Amino acid sequence: MVFHIMLIPTLGCPSNCGYCWSSEENSDLMTIDTFQEVVKWLENFRDDTVTVTFHGGEPLLAGFDFYQKALPLITNRLKHLKPSLALQTNLWNLTDEMAQLFSEYNIPIGSSIDGPEVLNDYQRGKGYYGKTMKGYKIALAHDLKVSFICTFTSHSINYKEDILNFFLENGLTLKLHPSLPSMRDENPDKWTLSPEAYGKLLVYLLDQYLDHMDEIEIMNIDNLTKSVFRRRGTVCTFVDCMGDTFAIGPDGSIYPCYRFVGMPEYIMGNVYDQPSMEDLAQSTPWKLLEEFKEYVDHECKKCTYIKFCRGGCPYNALAITDARVEGVDPHCTAYKRIFKEITDRATKEMLSGSGMVPGDPKTQKRGKNTIMSIMLKDS
Ligand code: SF4
Ligand code: SF4
Repeated sequence: MVFHIMLIPTLGCPSNCGYCWSSEENSDLMTIDTFQEVVKWLENFRDDTVTVTFHGGEPLLAGFDFYQKALPLITNRLKHLKPSLALQTNLWNLTDEMAQLFSEYNIPIGSSIDGPEVLNDYQRGKGYYGKTMKGYKIALAHDLKVSFICTFTSHSINYKEDILNFFLENGLTLKLHPSLPSMRDENPDKWTLSPEAYGKLLVYLLDQYLDHMDEIEIMNIDNLTKSVFRRRGTVCTFVDCMGDTFAIGPDGSIYPCYRFVGMPEYIMGNVYDQPSMEDLAQSTPWKLLEEFKEYVDHECKKCTYIKFCRGGCPYNALAITDARVEGVDPHCTAYKRIFKEITDRATKEMLSGSGMVPGDPKTQKRGKNTIMSIMLKDS
């Protein structure tokens, strides 16, 4: 069993992306004292293997000194939990000193870029691309593994071929995010990708992945395919996430996930109180997410994909209903579309025999890949 802690040292961020829902001006920085409380809390909270992801806002704003103290605290005091570490950053503030430190702790980095410079900077702000690429070069010089999240919006979806080519030409790993409505924005839907467009995009990427599997890694397609074959979700969106994922804000507040950080109504407790799992289960946000789970059991019970979809992401569902459990993840239409596509193609391959003897994905020629090749691919 693995549980996931998302550590948010600050909600502040130097960039100003058009569709951002997770940053806050003038946000505090987590102090090392608060971080020590986090580690103390985790020491006895659960016995399971833990993954700690530093997320934001922009987590590098916490600075080198913070990480120099924080990283050994995790690896020494949480040794019994076999911690793995990860970092999600726009890379702007990455220095050689930091990159060296992250490399010593073998920390994989997730960053964000939306495609070619003009398109990226239109969505994420002028100068974003150059600053991220500068940090990317520093990361590469220290042998850090970097993958990129590409946010597809109602605007960039019109340039999906250019975006894919950009990732192919630059040899970048791609994880896509559909732009979400924000619970915080006054104009929450401006960039939002419709579920239909998202479904179509996923099918397009599946086709492209089968053609280019030896050149690119598209994490969503890997995860969706593996979820279908294993009959259970392989990313948080497609499992019951409550209880296995927590986020901790700059002041030590505990939330169900990083997406809720900074919203007081989603605080479940605080690390300074060292709450047990039972304590957190008494909180209103926990009960709300439990209610979502029960809603999914009822509403999705006839859906063929319920075992490996689980109603999608509760944040996405709650974001559009003002925190009332009244529907599943609005991307349901997209999920159904891609799950059906994968299932139908896999069945066809099985019946024709073409999926039974897949070659090595690394050496297969273009156009010869099958759904089974994706399933068997290392990720
Ligand atoms: S709320 Fe959504 S993003 Fe957060 S852990 Fe759950 S499924 Fe993942
Ligand atoms: S695809 Fe839609 S109906 Fe099926 S489990 Fe997911 S959210 Fe529910």
